[in-house]
Amino acid sequence: MWLRRDLRLADNTALFAASRENASVCCVFVLDPILLASDRVGAPIVQSFFSALAALREQLRGFGSDLALLRGDFSEQLGSLAERLGATDVYYNEDCEPAIRQRDARVSEILGERGITTHAMKDLPLFGHNEILTDAGTPYKIFTPYKRRWLEAYHTAAPSMIPSVESDHFLSRTDIGATLDVPAPEDFGFSSSTLYPVVHEAEAHDLLKRFLEDGSAASYARRRNFPAMRGTSGLSPQLRAGTIGVRTCVHRGFEAAKAASPAARSAIELWISELIWRDFYLQILRNFPHVADKPFVDAANALQWSDDRVAFDAWCRGATGYPIVDAAMRQLNTYGWMHNRLRMIVASFLTKDLLINWQWGERYFERQLADADVAANNGGWQWAASTGTDAAPYFRIFSPVLQSEKFDPQGRFIRKMLPELRGVPDAYIHAPWKLSPLQEREFGVTLGVQYPLPIVDHAQARIRALAAYEPVLGKRSRGVASSEESAS
Ligand SMILES: Cc1cc2nc3c(=O)[nH]c(=O)nc-3n(C[C@H](O)[C@H](O)[C@H](O)COP(=O)(O)OP(=O)(O)OC[C@H]3O[C@@H](n4cnc5c(N)ncnc54)[C@H](O)[C@@H]3O)c2cc1C
Repeated sequence: MWLRRDLRLADNTALFAASRENASVCCVFVLDPILLASDRVGAPIVQSFFSALAALREQLRGFGSDLALLRGDFSEQLGSLAERLGATDVYYNEDCEPAIRQRDARVSEILGERGITTHAMKDLPLFGHNEILTDAGTPYKIFTPYKRRWLEAYHTAAPSMIPSVESDHFLSRTDIGATLDVPAPEDFGFSSSTLYPVVHEAEAHDLLKRFLEDGSAASYARRRNFPAMRGTSGLSPQLRAGTIGVRTCVHRGFEAAKAASPAARSAIELWISELIWRDFYLQILRNFPHVADKPFVDAANALQWSDDRVAFDAWCRGATGYPIVDAAMRQLNTYGWMHNRLRMIVASFLTKDLLINWQWGERYFERQLADADVAANNGGWQWAASTGTDAAPYFRIFSPVLQSEKFDPQGRFIRKMLPELRGVPDAYIHAPWKLSPLQEREFGVTLGVQYPLPIVDHAQARIRALAAYEPVLGKRSRGVASSEESAS
């Protein structure tokens, strides 16, 4: 069993398939030093994967087996291990990322030449890229009809849970022989932090159980947009490393919904919709692989972006002078995670207020997020930049002040992340540049020194963005009602 982004023993399609061959299964993970050295990988996700691998090894050792941890070229390492163990088959769960799919095809070919058969299984999404299609048999590009069909398919024939593999199906530790220790992030030049999400299979199940049972899921509709509250599940880093499967989340969600009051049921169903968004973007990436490097919408290639590195750097550091944007970026930089509402706000700010290419933001997120996932990240960025499938129309430009007033009304989240603004009262917390010099002294902040003045004026930036977008995407978006704040 070649583990990749499915670091769990429960509800794992390829692992179960491997165990049904009536042979002993050896679980293997290959560390790729080239991938780990790439600028598309950051400390939070590396820490997640290493801690999930360590926990998985403990589980396997508890069964008298082990995790075979290897390092180097995938086909070389898998081929040599298979030959040493006398294994004829390698099972894995397939990916949706174009680059990984190409790599897997190469690995498969090379292993085939060595007489080893590979088996790629669908496990990452609940429904695969070719299972939810329009009447014409084509992939959906719009979420709402996709979701409708997804739900029909689920309620007609939900994919069943994958049974757990019995402990005696695993190859013994002695037969596996010597393997590498799980490295520390520092071994590959990454820093670690106790503030990053804790990622492993037991933690994932605990999180889901708590979320569904302690009233969080039942109040999801009411709380999910407020970053100062724990209103969402926090499962994204677990789903990224695969310490929990999407089937488990959806099935448990529907079970909880069935037993809940009507209001709680619709809140839980709203949460399940977010997992459907996950499937939606996975199928977009698989069916339209060009999105990995280009806008989904061809016309958007003509957008003229600013290459203002100073502004980009201020955005990355959380020093734009807009408190909600800066607090969000500091959450990302400190915790390796950012609340969804804030992801939408900072992405709109980068692509519209600063007119900086969404791909710069996408890459930055990739390195800072423990849940960095090409499909969801790309989907989120292209949505915000109005270049994607089902994207926000280009004239929907979030006002950072209005968003802040609406979703962090008392500035609780801002003050937590920006202690320099702690003394600023509610009336000014969303727009501290309105303080008079006397008030600055009174509230203990010197603007331009302790906290920056805004790097752009939102009203002017909005006009600039409209002028840049209108000639490129104007025709496409005509007919969509203009509304600044009504996005999801
Ligand atoms: C610009 C931008 C970038 C994003 N980058 C990522 C990313 O790299 N990885 C990632 O997992 N999500 C990404 N998202 C989606 C979303 O922000 C996170 O999934 C969510 O904040 C994770 O928190 P949670 O687990 O508490 O979510 P919950 O609200 O509890 O949702 C449950 C699960 O549903 C899925 N989900 C929720 N929202 C979305 C969405 N909009 N698109 C796809 N799946 C979703 C996630 O797997 C999430 O864990 C991005 C959104 C935007 C706007």
